[in-house]
Amino acid sequence: MSLFDTPELREFRHEVRAFLKANLTPRLIAQTRSQLHLEREDMAHWQRILNARGWGAPHWPKAVGGTGWNELQRYIFEEESAFADAPLGDVHGLFLVGPMLIAEGSAEQKARYLPKILAGEEFWCQGFSEPNAGSDLASLKTTARLDGDSWVINGQKTWLSSGHHADLMFCLARTDLDAKPQASLTQFIVDMKSPGITLHPIMTMDEGHSVNAVFFDNVRTPRANVIGGLEKGWTYAKELLARERVNNAQAPRTKRDIVELDRMARTLKNANGRTLIEQAWVRRKLAALTVDFVALESAALGVLAEQMQGREPGPAASTLKIRGSELQQRVSETALAMLGQAGVVLGHDYGSGLLAADGIGWAERHFFRRVVTIYAGSNEIQKTIIAKSILDM
Ligand SMILES: Cc1cc2nc3c(=O)[nH]c(=O)nc-3n(C[C@H](O)[C@H](O)[C@H](O)COP(=O)(O)OP(=O)(O)OC[C@H]3O[C@@H](n4cnc5c(N)ncnc54)[C@H](O)[C@@H]3O)c2cc1C
Repeated sequence: MSLFDTPELREFRHEVRAFLKANLTPRLIAQTRSQLHLEREDMAHWQRILNARGWGAPHWPKAVGGTGWNELQRYIFEEESAFADAPLGDVHGLFLVGPMLIAEGSAEQKARYLPKILAGEEFWCQGFSEPNAGSDLASLKTTARLDGDSWVINGQKTWLSSGHHADLMFCLARTDLDAKPQASLTQFIVDMKSPGITLHPIMTMDEGHSVNAVFFDNVRTPRANVIGGLEKGWTYAKELLARERVNNAQAPRTKRDIVELDRMARTLKNANGRTLIEQAWVRRKLAALTVDFVALESAALGVLAEQMQGREPGPAASTLKIRGSELQQRVSETALAMLGQAGVVLGHDYGSGLLAADGIGWAERHFFRRVVTIYAGSNEIQKTIIAKSILDM
């Protein structure tokens, strides 16, 4: 019997479905389906609607605005949201810094920042990676020096996703220059409008702008903007990255994509007028994706079951991240193979009439998804974590 097959969960699913149907606008649906990088206002709009219903951050504790749902309800909510093409919210606020503030932030920080994340009023970005500190994050060079009542930050971060949309950054900087790398890092909150911050866009292969380089030139942030304890930043970063990896598995959104591929296979025709599903290679690809998706989903549900017992995902986050990211890449590769010529047009050419509606967005996703095996810790690094922590090698 499916874990979800209970009268209560069936009723819950209907409630979520009805809410999505009643509240998602055609624009939000179209933007989510066709745009790789959503506009801030679209994400904020949807976040306001969710928050008004009390569903702004289902995974947060109830005391700070969560729903009190169990993990199965949360999975149903994510699955229904994916199938309804509801926008993803501000991942950095809702899934990364929000939980870190809930666990480690001061009472003032929780009161100041959490309600604005919930309400879609403030957006965040993550300042961890530097040009020479990605996989080897602990070697980062950005420093923070205490001067009176503020910290003075100098250095450079790169690959800042959504930096140009963000009001605030959570950022790792070195506060003790003599200690070991992992024991010298502190997490800061930095206002993106602070004097001394310069942002440069980085264009990615999909010809989109979602990432940025940022330079800190004597940027001041108040003394109170340290999250948790001084030099505890590495510990918090590891916990945050494990949550990020679970989130990056994106099982419900991948399920939605596979169902879309199935629809395309049954409706698109090749040059001989035969539907794609009649071709053996298409059936084989769809079958392999479906089987591997079922394995991913059951692993994701295993992690949920652990979380229901109050346990953190630990190294299982790495297995989910590897399998989920590889599957996302295979899904968009398959979409492009099915679309043929109609799939190779990037967004700026939509207007040229070269592209059938089915092809919109897949080329961008295909190019941008090169990153899913890299960010949140590359898959090679995840394999090392698994070798050490699960296989005891
Ligand atoms: C589009 C995009 C968005 C991003 N968003 C953010 C963000 O918002 N905030 C943020 O802080 N960071 C972000 N990142 C950075 C991301 O986390 C890093 O790119 C990632 O950790 C890899 O680091 P690196 O790019 O320096 O590559 P490197 O660490 O130089 O690695 C290069 C290659 O070598 C391999 N490698 C390195 N070390 C080892 C090892 N010990 N064993 C085996 N293989 C190894 C890696 O797997 C990789 O294939 C983003 C990156 C991209 C591309």
